Amino acid sequence: MAKKIIIIGSGFGGLAAALRMRAKGYNVVLVEKHPDLGGRARVFKKDKFTYDGGPTVVTAPYLFDELFSLFNKKISDYVKIVPLDLWYRFVFNDGEKFDYNGDDKAMEEQVKKFSSKDYVGYKKLVNFTEKIFDKGFTDLSDRPFNNLVFMLKQVPALLKLKSYKSVYSLVSNYISNEKLRRVFSMHPLLVGGNPFSTTSIYTLILFLEKKWGIHYSMGGTGSIVNALEKLMKEEKIKIIKNAEVTEILTNNKIVKSVKINNSEVIDCDYVICNSDPPNVYKNLIKSKNNYNFLFKQKMKRMDYSMGLFVYYFGSRKKYDDVAHHTIYFGKSYEEHLNKIFEKKVLSQDISYYLHRPSATDPNMAPDGQDAFYVLVPVPNNLSRINWVNEGEKFKDLVLDKMDKSVLPGIKENVVSDFYLTPDYFEKDLATLHGSGFSIQPKFSQSAYFRFHNQSEIFENLYFVGAGTHPGAGMPGVLSSAKVLDRLF
Ligand SMILES: Cc1cc2nc3c(=O)[nH]c(=O)nc-3n(C[C@H](O)[C@H](O)[C@H](O)COP(=O)(O)OP(=O)(O)OC[C@H]3O[C@@H](n4cnc5c(N)ncnc54)[C@H](O)[C@@H]3O)c2cc1C
Repeated sequence: MAKKIIIIGSGFGGLAAALRMRAKGYNVVLVEKHPDLGGRARVFKKDKFTYDGGPTVVTAPYLFDELFSLFNKKISDYVKIVPLDLWYRFVFNDGEKFDYNGDDKAMEEQVKKFSSKDYVGYKKLVNFTEKIFDKGFTDLSDRPFNNLVFMLKQVPALLKLKSYKSVYSLVSNYISNEKLRRVFSMHPLLVGGNPFSTTSIYTLILFLEKKWGIHYSMGGTGSIVNALEKLMKEEKIKIIKNAEVTEILTNNKIVKSVKINNSEVIDCDYVICNSDPPNVYKNLIKSKNNYNFLFKQKMKRMDYSMGLFVYYFGSRKKYDDVAHHTIYFGKSYEEHLNKIFEKKVLSQDISYYLHRPSATDPNMAPDGQDAFYVLVPVPNNLSRINWVNEGEKFKDLVLDKMDKSVLPGIKENVVSDFYLTPDYFEKDLATLHGSGFSIQPKFSQSAYFRFHNQSEIFENLYFVGAGTHPGAGMPGVLSSAKVLDRLF
């Protein structure tokens, strides 16, 4: 009889792991605490508006294709994924704009608009990020970092690639214009890191975007979740919804079973957690006898990613000239990030990412209207901010900022809305301290130093998703499931 694997959680890491393990012939059962799948990629519907809860920028879509190919099926029979011409529009607080896309000529124009002397540096930066990409993504993103010797073997190459530098510092070596520095250094924020402290290995995202472009799945990212759910059902993966794993039962260094909703116990041969590793080790495993000193230190020393305030809103006015993806920079950059990551205080001078899916897909909003979400990085819950008191005030601030910048008149045109704060990430998604992206992508928390894909402590416990190697973001969590392919 096939051995049984229980997957805890249905984020993209969990969905990909379920399919990969099924393709290997295991009996796979996926349990999800919510009534719907997707985790951070869940979909919310309100008043005829459809909102992707989280990820919107689809990079490296081949990682989704692969999941269908495992069963000799084609993704195009399930969901339509289209490339975008304009990737992001960056808007500065003085109104200047930088349109970012994959066309070399257009990029030359955009860079030169800000600083013609930085164009040579920009080209050199892109070339260097290709080298980082070849090592950091192509070679290492789907390799298990379970032993220190393998990690140490990578060190010379990583040092040559200047991994000891931060993303901002590496970008600044090539580019002197402060606005361009922001444009090319902001990528760590997409995976929960501060550009001033994230290892420069993460500049590989710049090249990853260049290599495969930026895509959108028609119907929203949720349509990819639906496609994967359909495939899982076809391939006889058992899905149990409304099932929160409240305990992982262990015997010495072996996981025996999981307890669901504090009652039913399901036995298994392996557990793969898509639930955040710090949460699993802290809250789901009750017996900590096997945690050694080094592991306890690892748990203690981790720095968590920022929190997110996400405001979803429908507008009766259509903003035809607003791009699908807009990133707005407030006045300060380093100081603002310092407030979020280090001081953990709210700031009036916010920066934000605005998603307007109806720019590509009118079906996301009623006729003649627009669906949006705006994501504002904020401190995680180690800040002790009381979001019940602050939420409404912060929403007003965000609306006011958008009204004065990218969406004039929006205050009078919102017809439907709601927001999520770090409390949602902490309570509903079970992420320690309400971080948006699990632990930060610092060098000291990457690869071997991250939570291992095969548990450091339990022999038959595994992890996929943002808190394990390689890290957050859809390409990261899909790659973490590929790591398991090598381990099983
Ligand atoms: C607002 C936002 C925007 C983003 N934008 C982008 C983007 O544009 N592009 C991109 O690539 N990435 C983006 N990301 C990052 C990306 O969404 C995440 O890194 C990725 O989706 C996380 O997937 P995961 O596999 O780690 O699982 P998660 O999505 O974190 O899901 C974990 C699942 O486990 C379940 N779970 C937890 N504990 C239990 C338990 N005890 N029992 C049962 N179930 C449990 C949860 O309910 C959840 O469904 C964004 C993230 C956010 C929050």
